[in-house]
Amino acid sequence: MKSGEILDKTDILSLSLEELKEQIAALGEPAFRAGQIYDWLHAKQVGDFAQMSNISHKLQAELCSKFYIPCIKIKKKLVSSLDGTVKYLYELADGECVESVLMRYKHGNTVCISTQAGCRMGCKFCASTLAGLKRNLRPSEMLGQVTGTALDIGERVSNIVLMGIGEPLDNYDNVLRFLELVSHKTGPNIGLRHISLSTCGLVDKIDALRREKLQLTLSVSLHAPNDEIRRQTMPVSRKWSIRELIRACRDYADGTGRRISFEYALINGVNDSDANAAELASLLSGLLCHVNLIPVNEVKERGYTRTGQKQVERFQSILERRGIPTTVRRRLGADINAACGQLRREDASAI
Ligand code: SAH
Repeated sequence: MKSGEILDKTDILSLSLEELKEQIAALGEPAFRAGQIYDWLHAKQVGDFAQMSNISHKLQAELCSKFYIPCIKIKKKLVSSLDGTVKYLYELADGECVESVLMRYKHGNTVCISTQAGCRMGCKFCASTLAGLKRNLRPSEMLGQVTGTALDIGERVSNIVLMGIGEPLDNYDNVLRFLELVSHKTGPNIGLRHISLSTCGLVDKIDALRREKLQLTLSVSLHAPNDEIRRQTMPVSRKWSIRELIRACRDYADGTGRRISFEYALINGVNDSDANAAELASLLSGLLCHVNLIPVNEVKERGYTRTGQKQVERFQSILERRGIPTTVRRRLGADINAACGQLRREDASAI
């Protein structure tokens, strides 16, 4: 059995419209049928071929023998009493679980989705990588986190951030397909300008993404102003140096005209001194970017502590004085372990 296929059937929700057209043509059906089926799947979101009322019973049976419609289920849901943030534990068809987070803002609903079951990047401050990587998520499993959440709240999702469990660029092809499906006019229809993809810095993949010329926002988890500090907390920096990473970011900003968002988790005594701020400002000088400071969130297996409020403000002002737009990220869902770096692939969120 090919990975991701159940009983030799193909996951029909992960197919692009183009691919579906080819598959439907191979069954001897006219091309417009593929459009009808795509509409049932992505606009009407049916869970069964028998519900496709403008498709003949014969074709329904053929579809059923060749394809399956995957379904992901909400296994658990926690609502923050502090800010209304919701954390979902989604169960996938093979029993794996991933978490997604719904953040409710005045301007709309943002869903933070997972792209892998687990993660193999090994960042020292992050809970998502503690149990390693189990497997990549399929496009339909990323899509299901968006559509499942929209269905649960009965409202439209306006923004997506690929900032949950996993490294999106380590699951590159499936993530690109997901972006195609979620932004398609038939379906969630969420424009790429409303989507952010966060990476710990896989340089070759950032270069590949630049060549796609997508209008999405690239976020880069930097977390250090130099290799010496970055190597203490982020194993990926042994493969790609900061110099190579910043080169890829400059090329990305130049090539797409899109501003890069750098994430910087402030860890007490590790990367939060005035000198670190000045070095960071020099590193990013002249780059079309923005820095998002995140006082590090607590992960019980990790020993890191947050930078105090006063030093956070000093760090921010040093960057701003050097002309780098800088914000401090609001911490949402702290009481339900839904903040950055706190998501897990197991149901370890009991609090
Ligand atoms: N693998 C991708 C996507 C994860 S996004 C990436 O690394 O970018 C999750 C964001 O939260 C990343 O910026 C990550 O570095 C950050 N993060 C992880 N653990 C954290 C913690 N304990 N406190 C604050 N931010 C954290």
